Amino acid sequence: MRELDMNTRSLLTLAEELECRVFLDEPLDKHNTFRIGGSCTAMIDINSPDNLSQLWEEANRLGIRTMALGNGSNVLFDDKGFDGVIFLIGSSMDKIYMRSDNVIVAQAGCPLLKLCRFALEHSLSGLEFAYGIPGSVGGAIFMNAGAYGGEIKDVIKFGRAVDREGRQFEFTAEQMKFGYRSSRFLAGDELIVEGEFELPSGSYDDIQDKMVDLMGRRREKQPLNLPSAGSTFKRPDVEGVYAGKLIEDSGLRGFSVGGAQVSEKHCGFVVNKGGATSGDVLELIKQVQAKVEKDSGYLLECEVRYIPYSV
Ligand SMILES: Cc1cc2nc3c(=O)[nH]c(=O)nc-3n(C[C@H](O)[C@H](O)[C@H](O)COP(=O)(O)OP(=O)(O)OC[C@H]3O[C@@H](n4cnc5c(N)ncnc54)[C@H](O)[C@@H]3O)c2cc1C
Repeated sequence: MRELDMNTRSLLTLAEELECRVFLDEPLDKHNTFRIGGSCTAMIDINSPDNLSQLWEEANRLGIRTMALGNGSNVLFDDKGFDGVIFLIGSSMDKIYMRSDNVIVAQAGCPLLKLCRFALEHSLSGLEFAYGIPGSVGGAIFMNAGAYGGEIKDVIKFGRAVDREGRQFEFTAEQMKFGYRSSRFLAGDELIVEGEFELPSGSYDDIQDKMVDLMGRRREKQPLNLPSAGSTFKRPDVEGVYAGKLIEDSGLRGFSVGGAQVSEKHCGFVVNKGGATSGDVLELIKQVQAKVEKDSGYLLECEVRYIPYSV
């Protein structure tokens, strides 16, 4: 167990007063889809937007290193863990409701799957693309998650977030500065509280058929039986060029470093075939980037976010 400094202890006391669950030395491998990583100093299970505001303000005032974690489906933690406090924004902050006939509000910890099913129940279309992306609403806004021609930026009307002083703001889609797998939130100055999604009415059956179809395509093409963080690399910014194809063309299908492997099923995925360390994944990524660049001239940029032990 790590020794807690006075400031961290004071933050955790406040969290407990606010009735958030606190975990010390929490193993991170059970909080990410790669199933990799040591433990963090502490984890706070955030239970409301107001408590998120209060705790983040306090953490910043005390100079404590923190990070937000949703479903952990786009992160690679270090084997040593995370020297700081993780704000888990998940199942304790996952409320969802209709604001009006065509507008859904979902808190950051709400799983995308739940949001998609909620949209289906109300015969609202536009979120079909997101069915099967294993993230939270917060993580999806942060990354501007997308698939099969759709992106979060196409369906979100407002995002609400809290800044380092604990103030809550509302941002329009434009103000969130969405780009390909990016948003204003990558700068790290605000944590996402909730998203408001405006969706046109559609036919329940059509929406359901599309969701089933897209889920089927995922199952057919992606190595869902092994831990991973989805597509490891971003798509190069050139029409018709795909990371997976470049990797395949470089002869790297199945290429391994320790327990990390370029998926046999989909070369765009690095998988944990068993016992992979963060070092294995990082080394594999480095070797894939070098070989692909040498063969094709494209430098593949990592989509998965590596979180170092300390800064
Ligand atoms: C099998 C598989 C398939 C996938 N398919 C797709 C796909 O089709 N399209 C796609 O875009 N992605 C895909 N992904 C990647 C991933 O699911 C998405 O990027 C998802 O949006 C990440 O959400 P998360 O909650 O898991 O985020 P996390 O991994 O928990 O976090 C990702 C980043 O967001 C930050 N963050 C999380 N929540 C908040 C918050 N509330 N406020 C501020 N920052 C926050 C974290 O600090 C971190 O830097 C896939 C992953 C897997 C494992």
